[in-house]
Amino acid sequence: MGERSISRGRSVRWLAEARDAVVSIFFPAGCRICEQLLTRASRVPICDDCLASFVPLTEKVCEICGRPIESTTLHDTGQNRCRICREMPGGQVRTYAFDRARSFAAYDGSLVRAILLLKFERMEPLGAWFAERLAEVVNTQGLQADVVVPVPLHRDRERERGYNQADLIARPLARRLKLPHRAVLLVRTRPRPDKHILSLEERWESVRGAFATRPGSQVDNLRVLLVDDVMTTGATLDACARALRDAGAKSVIGLTVARAVRNPFPAPVSQSPSGAR
Ligand SMILES: [Zn+2]
Ligand SMILES: [Zn+2]
Repeated sequence: MGERSISRGRSVRWLAEARDAVVSIFFPAGCRICEQLLTRASRVPICDDCLASFVPLTEKVCEICGRPIESTTLHDTGQNRCRICREMPGGQVRTYAFDRARSFAAYDGSLVRAILLLKFERMEPLGAWFAERLAEVVNTQGLQADVVVPVPLHRDRERERGYNQADLIARPLARRLKLPHRAVLLVRTRPRPDKHILSLEERWESVRGAFATRPGSQVDNLRVLLVDDVMTTGATLDACARALRDAGAKSVIGLTVARAVRNPFPAPVSQSPSGAR
């Protein structure tokens, strides 16, 4: 009995190795990030080393915006909030329209390349892999939601590209969390400016009032999980959350695969015209 299961284990392993060998003979593709030859059968064309190089944002993040914060900050203030989510100059409290935002990993290194592959090459298996990571974030942090909503593209942009990259993550995520996927709930009514690089102020300006809920859609009292690929300033998630809140959403949690952590984070000009830094 014992021997049989050992030999069965061996043959299973042998089969897996044989399958990988066949894959590398017939599909001698390199990792799309580092070009190392892929030796295992997976629909995600990125090697294990590159996948393991993503830096998860798990500990010591701001309880509101999810930005990594230094342990000294925690120690000094006794608050789990980053500098930006604490009080603004003049006693103004900086608040976003979303309740919380969380991300899988830092937008840096090979994750930047991976996001580009998702965005411009419609790499659906990678979207599903990211969805698995985000489902882990949702479960470990106990995030509560009733529906999953992708940040929408303007319809001209979506027609041009043929898909919405946020949807490539949101759809498999909804399936994993067993929640309804509501891609039609939000629409982008004003396109992003054509200019490629936007200043921080332009970023906030370009999305302000650029989203709306679709007339007739049921939003009232819903807890929304709002999904996007990258969070940089938080302006997009904020503008989407504002539209959802106006339509009666009970709560909005922003969830992105990646989070820009290097650049200084601006205060929205709308809320603190003089205190922005
Ligand atoms: Zn690689
Ligand atoms: Zn914060």
